[in-house]
Amino acid sequence: MTQVVTNWARNITYTAKEFHRPHSLDTLRALVAGSAAVRVLGSGHSFNTIADPGAEGVLLSIAGLPPVIDVDPAARTVRVSGGVRYAELARTVHAHGLALPNMASLPHISVAGSVATGTHGSGVGNGSLASSVREVELVVADGTTLTLARGDARFDGAVTSLGALGVVTALTLDLEPAFEVEQHVYTELPLTGLDFAAVAGSGYSVSLFTDWREPGFRQVWVKRRTDRPAPDFPWAAPATEPLHPVPGMPAVNCTEQLGVPGPWHERLPHFRAEFTPSSGDELQSEYLLPRSAAVDALHAVDGIRGTVAAVLQICEVRTVAADAQWLSPAYGRDSVALHFTWTDDTEAVLPVVGRLEEVLEPFDPRPHWGKVFTVPAAALRRRHPRLDDFRALARALDPSGKFANVFVRGVLGD
Ligand SMILES: Cc1cc2nc3c(=O)[nH]c(=O)nc-3n(C[C@H](O)[C@H](O)[C@H](O)COP(=O)(O)OP(=O)(O)OC[C@H]3O[C@@H](n4cnc5c(N)ncnc54)[C@H](O)[C@@H]3O)c2cc1C
Repeated sequence: MTQVVTNWARNITYTAKEFHRPHSLDTLRALVAGSAAVRVLGSGHSFNTIADPGAEGVLLSIAGLPPVIDVDPAARTVRVSGGVRYAELARTVHAHGLALPNMASLPHISVAGSVATGTHGSGVGNGSLASSVREVELVVADGTTLTLARGDARFDGAVTSLGALGVVTALTLDLEPAFEVEQHVYTELPLTGLDFAAVAGSGYSVSLFTDWREPGFRQVWVKRRTDRPAPDFPWAAPATEPLHPVPGMPAVNCTEQLGVPGPWHERLPHFRAEFTPSSGDELQSEYLLPRSAAVDALHAVDGIRGTVAAVLQICEVRTVAADAQWLSPAYGRDSVALHFTWTDDTEAVLPVVGRLEEVLEPFDPRPHWGKVFTVPAAALRRRHPRLDDFRALARALDPSGKFANVFVRGVLGD
């Protein structure tokens, strides 16, 4: 490898023997066909070895391919290169008077990398970002292109794919008419007596934040569409100034609050696209559980509050609607997502992650594929009922396991 490549958080240094950034599809095809082990690196925002091809493998970035963002206003779709980041995609889509239904907390992540790991925002009616994908174009192991569209029997395995099926060169996404959103922040919501369904349903996209130093939630962010009725929020007081979710951090990097209406793509992410986030001194973990278990699961975490708080920057609680992608953490169940932004001390964080997984175990937690977790393969198999279907699809498209790195083999129990 001629250059050192790390992930955004710098806790992972990729061990590939070569790093390539092809500028044409033909070069990409030749690289894939001629390599024994390949992985693609998106924008590098995952916190584990999911993108690492291993010491004998080739790491590819497709960020050098000519970027495509083709909006079809009549069909309300957009065809976008896999390496494009959501910030750029959202700006272009909005310029056509259209919108994506939802976004993650920051817009700096690539489209293909995000949907590959089941990345999501929040909202009781909003599926993961992969739910918007209607077609995916892959360069598969032999260097040819395979296009899978909704309706194909293999499609539900092909979007949240952990990068294990091939190089995603382009995706076509569903769009809807552009909409406006107001962002309201409320402070100090008690855990005792929490009506989670009502709080989570009080806006189009709702996030609860806590540092677990005290019981309850320090902030609740409610993103309301201006074209829908606004329910009351009687459970906590509105903030009087803009806030950053992490206590003590300046709110200047955050999207506008205090109920000022604005376009969907400038309110749905928590962080502004025009602020380049520095390489983060943090680690992240996240678990998706059945939404009906939200309150019990939050009380279980509250029971180890001190242990969690010792290495925690912030915890965010969101909701994700069920989807159909076989490997999606929200597959087949409306979910609550418990997210933890840890300090950057892997040694101190890992035992806490293990303890957290123990207390969440009764709720069948499915880990976010792009974050830190220690859930063993046997438990992943129990919690992902379509894992064997995914393995069969991967073997059919990639018989020699070119795209199956150590992480993927671990997940599939191979
Ligand atoms: C600050 C921060 C905030 C975050 N916020 C959220 C959030 O709000 N919600 C959430 O769910 N997650 C969140 N995440 C996690 C993040 O969305 C995921 O890790 C996501 O995978 C990042 O996309 P990426 O392009 O950086 O992927 P990478 O880390 O580069 O890659 C992830 C996986 O995708 C594969 N891949 C990437 N591109 C391709 C391609 N073209 N073809 C085939 N495979 C490909 C890689 O091989 C790898 O397996 C956050 C992460 C950070 C650092």
